[in-house]
Amino acid sequence: MKLILLGAPGAGKGTVAKLLTKMDGSVQISTGDILRGAVAAGTELGKQAEAAMKAGDLVSDDLIMGIMEERLKEDDCKAGYLLDGFPRTIPQAEALKVLLEKMGEKLDCAVEIDVPRDVILDRLTTRRTCTGCGEIYNVKSNPPAVEGKCDKCGEPVVQRDDETEEAISNRLNVYNDQTAPLVGFYKDEGLLLSVNATSSDAVIDAIKEKTERLMTVTQS
Ligand code: AMP
Repeated sequence: MKLILLGAPGAGKGTVAKLLTKMDGSVQISTGDILRGAVAAGTELGKQAEAAMKAGDLVSDDLIMGIMEERLKEDDCKAGYLLDGFPRTIPQAEALKVLLEKMGEKLDCAVEIDVPRDVILDRLTTRRTCTGCGEIYNVKSNPPAVEGKCDKCGEPVVQRDDETEEAISNRLNVYNDQTAPLVGFYKDEGLLLSVNATSSDAVIDAIKEKTERLMTVTQS
């Protein structure tokens, strides 16, 4: 399946994506992970993105489209993909539509994960992320076995630079202003699935139900 995961920071896009990729062999493509990798490696891309990321602002549409045009052509995308944190603006969604048309591909669904703001704030301030593999932890509900060390790859598990209270508040405003309009965009495209749930299992059940129905319609 080719899915977009929409939702505010902390809505659970990354967690849902990781669980879904294990189920159907598709690949998670997180523009945030790609950018954090570039910042950590000190590449030109990382240097261009770093300041905006730290402040909780978006990096430019051109930079993001450059990354995604390359990424979506890679072989592992043939088995399907989950776009996590992309698109984030209407121009990105329009550019993605054009790109997929050029590639002869079609999205199956855009899933909006809708979670109350107080849950999001609590999650983001307690979230910790592995600097090596991007695995997500939570200091209250899901800490690593050894404090500060990833269970999977052993790299340090830290609070992200953009998860200070100030940056979080800015990221939520940026989401409301620039990303939330994508819900209407994908509704008009006939691709929207809105899920109002705080548990990733409930989100996955809703996605499975929708995609199974889609497959039945496609096959019949
Ligand atoms: P995320 O991990 O998805 O929350 O992304 C972390 C940060 O990376 C965001 O706050 C933005 O600064 C940047 N970023 C990630 N994806 C995008 C995108 N599609 N468009 C613009 N900026 C992005």
